[in-house]
Amino acid sequence: GKPVCECNTCYDGPDCSTYIPDCPADANSGDPMFLEPYWMQNAASSALVVTGWHRMSYIFSDHSYTSQELEKSIRRLHSIAGNAVTEGKYIVFGTGSTQLLNAAVNALSLYNSSTPSKVVVSIPFYPDYEVQTELFATEHYKFYGDASLYKNSSDDSTNVIEFVTSPNNPDGKLRKAIFNGPSARAIHDHAYNWPHFTAIPHPSDEDLMLFTLSKLTGHAGVRFGWALIKDKTVYERMSTYTNENTFGVSRDIQLRALKLLNVVLDGDGRSIFKYAYGTMRNRWESLSKTVSLSTRFTIQDISPSFCTFFQNVRGPSPAYAWLKCEREEDDICYKVLESGGILGRDGILFGASSQYVRLSLIKSQDDFDQLLQHLKKLVLQEDGAT
Ligand code: PMP
Repeated sequence: GKPVCECNTCYDGPDCSTYIPDCPADANSGDPMFLEPYWMQNAASSALVVTGWHRMSYIFSDHSYTSQELEKSIRRLHSIAGNAVTEGKYIVFGTGSTQLLNAAVNALSLYNSSTPSKVVVSIPFYPDYEVQTELFATEHYKFYGDASLYKNSSDDSTNVIEFVTSPNNPDGKLRKAIFNGPSARAIHDHAYNWPHFTAIPHPSDEDLMLFTLSKLTGHAGVRFGWALIKDKTVYERMSTYTNENTFGVSRDIQLRALKLLNVVLDGDGRSIFKYAYGTMRNRWESLSKTVSLSTRFTIQDISPSFCTFFQNVRGPSPAYAWLKCEREEDDICYKVLESGGILGRDGILFGASSQYVRLSLIKSQDDFDQLLQHLKKLVLQEDGAT
């Protein structure tokens, strides 16, 4: 018979085809469900059966906690995407890249300094850097926030750990570190540095780069991320962290990640990128068209640029819209949207003002269609008002 599924938020009935009237569009979370149809098309090749006796041990046959096969697939994938240099880099796995956020801060902090390392980031920034750093803070590091406040202080770059998110969550901009001294240390979070979401200008060759399966294949629930690390000591500290914290990443997670990456690598290894870019590009074009009719709302401007992966100049396809309410009286922008049936994330959570809202564009097609429909209504009301 037909599989019994859960309906998407705004649909009901035995086959999920009944629309719930006035259902709000939930554009809050960064759940990357836009890739679900891709995996439905690749259902058989990506399926995994694990027998009861398989992978029971703490260790792989080489006595490590990490799959060498998975490492090899990750290196191959980066060389196809052209988004990161893996030669001369060590790899550490994490339970999602979230586990690696604090593993990286911990590994970069100075154990012998009398003052804690300042963990900084440019505004607007992904809120979890603050949450994670504060949750696990030791006497060696402390979250300070807004990087620009410390740029010209007397201890400029001497004891700073900078998060650099490129492309950035929430605004999709490519970013560089602002601290560049000889002792500057940075964590380059490349969660969105895939052809899905950005033109790839050249392979990133930073000392510490983080990636995640969540935004690459869409398998956020699998909880798998990895770090590419140049320095051996930093590598050793980060692997000690994950080894002590969780005895490494679950062997089942590694098995599933390997299966998925090998499907991605099948053929010329380009099909997921074409699919993901096509979807994200269409969404951004539809959203831009609607917002261009508005004077009340604006979204970030990202220029078309040359992509070494597609070998052409390509338009923007960011994971999120960073929407601004332009009217002074709309100073709590997420409330304005909420009253129009759109649930977004308050700019304040990203260190910016409430004049901004982040809207997720990476959820299911139904979620995106709802968002667009409600936004169109809001924009049409503008004309009536003026
Ligand atoms: N970094 C950034 C910039 C993110 O947006 C996210 C997820 N939203 C993560 C890291 C963490 O992702 P995960 O733990 O699923 O790998």
